Parts: sequence; C-alpha cells; structure tokens
Amino acid sequence: MAKFGITGRFVDLTDPRELASAISDKTKIVYCETPANPNMRLVDIAAIAEVCRGRGVTFVVDNTYCTPYLQRPIELGADLVVHSATKYLGGHGDLLAGAVVGRREAIDETRFVGIKELNGAVISSFDSFLIQRGLKTLELRMERHSETAMKLAHDLEAHAAVERVYYPGLKSSPFHDLASRQMKRYGGMIALELKGGLPAGRRFMDALSLVTSAVSLGDAETLVQHPASMTHSTYAPEERIRHGFTDGLIRISVGLEDYADIRDDIVGALDALSAAD
Ligand SMILES: *Cc1c(COP(=O)(O)O)cnc(C)c1O
Repeated sequence: MAKFGITGRFVDLTDPRELASAISDKTKIVYCETPANPNMRLVDIAAIAEVCRGRGVTFVVDNTYCTPYLQRPIELGADLVVHSATKYLGGHGDLLAGAVVGRREAIDETRFVGIKELNGAVISSFDSFLIQRGLKTLELRMERHSETAMKLAHDLEAHAAVERVYYPGLKSSPFHDLASRQMKRYGGMIALELKGGLPAGRRFMDALSLVTSAVSLGDAETLVQHPASMTHSTYAPEERIRHGFTDGLIRISVGLEDYADIRDDIVGALDALSAAD
C-alpha cells in the first residue's frame, strides 16, 4: 500500500492493551484475521472493537476461516468484514473471489472507488453462480468440516510424532474459552507442530496419498500445506520464526471425505515418521 501513502505496523492483537498503545492520530484501520493463519491464534473481536470505537478507528475482520456460519464479527462490533470466497464460501476449490460486508456508505466506496477505479476487476457471472450454489450447502459443510477437524485434532494430539496441535476446539488451546464464546463451532482448520522440523515436514508431505498438498483451504478435499517447504521456503529460518511459525508447522484444511479415510492417510504419514526415527 506504500504507493498510496499508507503504511502499516504489526501489533499483537491477542492483547487489546498492545493495540491501545499502538494507535496514533494517524491510524485509520485496524485489520486482523481470527483464527489467524497459520497457527490458529484468536483475537477477541468484541474487545478489539471496543478499543477501535473509543479511538474512532475502523475495525476490519477477515472472516475467511469461519464464514458467517461460525462467526459474525459485525454483531461483535467490527465495522467491515472481508472474506476470501475462494475458500469455504465457494467451498469447492474451483474459483477465485472475495467479498466485503458492512454499512452501505463503506460498501459504496468499496464498489465505486475501490473495485471500479483502483482494482478494475469484476467477478464473472459463472463464478458468482458457483458461489451461490456453494452457499446452499454452507451450513452442512461447515458442520462436517468442524466435526471431522475436532476428531482429527484429538487423534493428532495423541500421536508420538506430534509436538503440539493448534486447534481452538482442544482444551489445550489457550484460545479455547474465547473460541467457545466467539465461534459457533471450532472450524475446519488445524495446525500442528511436528517433532523433527523441516526434514520431518518434508517426509510427512511425501508420505500422504489421499490428502492433497496445496496452499488453499476450505475445499471439499482435505488440503495440507507445509509453509517451511512451500509458501515460505524462500524465507530464512529466523524470518519464519518472526512470522510466527516454525519449520515443523503443518497446516491442514480438513475436507469433507469420510473421517476414517482422512485419519488413515494423515495418521499413516505420521506413523511413517515415527518408524523412521
Ligand atoms: C486465501 C486467503 C486470503 C486471500 O484470498 P484470495 O481469494 O486467495 O485472494 C485472505 N485471507 C485469508 C484468511 C485467506 O485464507
């Protein structure tokens, strides 16, 4: 955004007090996602909204991981909500789209200045049709994604090759209480920390057969990504730590397949790691 004269800074929003001291008279927008990619930290939307309201700052929440079925940030005080409709809203991994939700005046500006004058791209009618069709099963899909993710998170947490599982539905998550208040269910995204870092991550990815290695999420198929060898492979290890994840971090977008099939593939790949040690 630098060419528009806009600068940003990163603030740890898991502590609303950090935000209060970071806001200056130049601050226009506070932006977050929750749960946050890739390690499933949550932000207390109502608490951050209160800080923003008090300082006259617009609060924008990326609600892609949850969809409106699992989490409703505007009801909790956010001003604008953005979604990558590429993910759960479309739900089938076959389109690219996004949505902004909020008050009329802000949306008019988004459409007539943001999209028309700055961005220029308009969604195709076929992609719009696919999203509308996907939305008909949103509730069913989000229920199934959440149910399967919960089972898988428990199985992963019990596995010897796994150091840690990050899933807000687990009692071990520091965000479990907040998630229980703020989300209807805990969603379909899981992150886990493998013992054995980068080589273990590579071997795990290579041992999968049903599950697809891909950087997207929210598809009908289970997708797994290993940031250290994929999206962030060009970063130095210290840089990856600064971005909040380690070399053994794996992200799973739990799909709609039969639970036993997902479990057998993922747990089987983990068993192969334990056997290799
Ligand atoms: C994928 C994603 C985006 C970007 O969306 P695109 O549709 O790929 O442009 C933004 N936020 C989150 C949380 C995402 O997962």
